[in-house]
Amino acid sequence: MLPPRKTREIRIGPLKIGGSNRIAVQSMCATRTQDLEATTAQVRALVAAGADVVRIAIDNNADAEALIEIRRRCPDAVLSVDLQENYRLAERVAPFVNKMRYNPGHLHHHEREKSVEEKVAFLAGIATQHGLALRVGVNCGSVAPAFLEAHPGDQLGAMVASAIAHCEILDRLGFRDYCVSLKDSDPQKVIEGNTRFAALRPDVPIHLGVTEAGLPPDGIIKTRIAFEQLLARGIGDTLRVSLTVPNPRKHEEIEVGRAIIEDVAAGRFRSVPPNFGKGLNIISCPSCSRVENEAFVELAQQVKELTRYAAEKKLTIAVMGCRVNGPGETDDADLGLWCGPKTVNLKRKDESLGSFPYDQVLDHLKAELDRLIAAQS
Ligand code: SF4
Repeated sequence: MLPPRKTREIRIGPLKIGGSNRIAVQSMCATRTQDLEATTAQVRALVAAGADVVRIAIDNNADAEALIEIRRRCPDAVLSVDLQENYRLAERVAPFVNKMRYNPGHLHHHEREKSVEEKVAFLAGIATQHGLALRVGVNCGSVAPAFLEAHPGDQLGAMVASAIAHCEILDRLGFRDYCVSLKDSDPQKVIEGNTRFAALRPDVPIHLGVTEAGLPPDGIIKTRIAFEQLLARGIGDTLRVSLTVPNPRKHEEIEVGRAIIEDVAAGRFRSVPPNFGKGLNIISCPSCSRVENEAFVELAQQVKELTRYAAEKKLTIAVMGCRVNGPGETDDADLGLWCGPKTVNLKRKDESLGSFPYDQVLDHLKAELDRLIAAQS
């Protein structure tokens, strides 16, 4: 039995989460949103695998129109739209979805003359008009600058403060159908951030996720580490497992999510392999509609193979699928790769080392990795 949760109930279309409702399992389309055939097929495959909610990202008007057509083709799916950086697209797609996710760290990109409060009021107004739920989706790699400045050297504190501030804005607006997520690629930070948030706001439903968990099996193990601890404490009303897998295997995110919930409810906690998390840490994003080249997933797998010889080195390599989040989300890694349409950008921390064709970047990565290892010894 999972411990009782104290969160309030909210509605996402026909689905209810929070309180005593069962924990909903979600996934997200990794296909290009404008590829109607591929995205429709992925929504259907995820629903067939048992997804309670399927998220689709939009970034421009063409994506928004594609989402409307996907809704027409998948009338029964519970759809969440990820507004990425262009929050005003909410107005166009709201009648066709059940939930909207916004990232508080991305609200300052557009219409800089408007306050964050005004933008949240715009989103809450649209959500109210169309009976939608909202998710305040805070992400470690994109916390709003104001919170980072207020919490120097404490990214986790900044993430929690940002989430709390947005809850307070929504509360002042009288909007209550919202949930919150606080994601990081480090499972320990996910545990800490969500535990701190839940202590401060026990009433707010929480969406759990370890972002950029990466390739199975490590991505599953990292997710388990965080989710087992949190679910066992009664934290988490809905969840998504983010895995770097090719599109035909995306349904595994749902299966893994359900298995973790069942295991925790039955008191089955999986052990972690010896030395897990002590040596080389490869993080990679689950890919989404923004991925610039479908070779990304294969590249992430090749990076894992290539770097096996360095498995015991305490280094982090980040592999990201696009230019939007790739540059920022690789800054903290010892070595980072983020994908463009034809080339892959290689970085050491926040320093660019150049942009290389897909079939050449691994040689450059290995040379840099060897240099770092030599410097450590
Ligand atoms: S890094 Fe880019 S491609 Fe990968 S999940 Fe994030 S937005 Fe999508």
